[in-house]
Amino acid sequence: MARTFFVGGNFKMNGSLESVKQIIDNLNKADLPSNVEVVIAPPAPYLGLAVATNKQKTVSVGAQNVFDKASGAYTGEISPDQVKDLGGKWTLTGHSERRTIIKESDEFIASKTKFALDQGLSVILCIGETLEERKANVTLDVCARQLDAVSKIVSDWTNIVVAYEPVWAIGTGLAATPEDAQETHKGIRAHLAKSIGQDQAEKVRILYGGSVNGKNAPEFKDKADVDGFLVGGASLKPEFIDIIKSRL
Ligand code: PEP
Repeated sequence: MARTFFVGGNFKMNGSLESVKQIIDNLNKADLPSNVEVVIAPPAPYLGLAVATNKQKTVSVGAQNVFDKASGAYTGEISPDQVKDLGGKWTLTGHSERRTIIKESDEFIASKTKFALDQGLSVILCIGETLEERKANVTLDVCARQLDAVSKIVSDWTNIVVAYEPVWAIGTGLAATPEDAQETHKGIRAHLAKSIGQDQAEKVRILYGGSVNGKNAPEFKDKADVDGFLVGGASLKPEFIDIIKSRL
């Protein structure tokens, strides 16, 4: 099954008006492949700027997080409608930094995922195990649990992209090997086939995330279940363009 290659850029809580504009200028100048879908997720205050300055048809803008309510007394939160109002089309949910630092539960992440979808955003749903869980050999159990929380309340996965991001690989310079990533992605797809059906599971794109850079991205090229990348640190650098072009 041909799945469109997908590269997400998660800027995390980095950047300024000037640097976000610079990253988008670089993207605008690049000769990007027409068959790669790109989503950049700047910090929320720069969503409007990113949408207004992006000139690439294959690049969309997304939020790093949304709340599971439309509006109201939820100080500091952002609703999917507000993201859409600024021209955003996507949101991340379940990034490991939100799971571990902000202590978001599987259920809360699932609820935000469902609400964002219901409100018309597409979602990059992040999952992945910690180092302790990896050492305990429960990687797939953890991924299954995180996915099941969502599949329990969301049956249509058309607008979900899954990002497998082992926590030990995020921001550490220690990427999973392409073989390890493929093995886990295959297990994730097999699990999805059981929960949401073979048809949908074949269509869901599964990204690898964790210390992807311009140098190691091409090494994942022949891995059948690695449908793209979610990139943190390197999405702030010119090498992001090399990652977008890594399947050429
Ligand atoms: C991320 O934040 O989603 C990520 C994968 O970070 P990095 O590429 O820096 O490891």
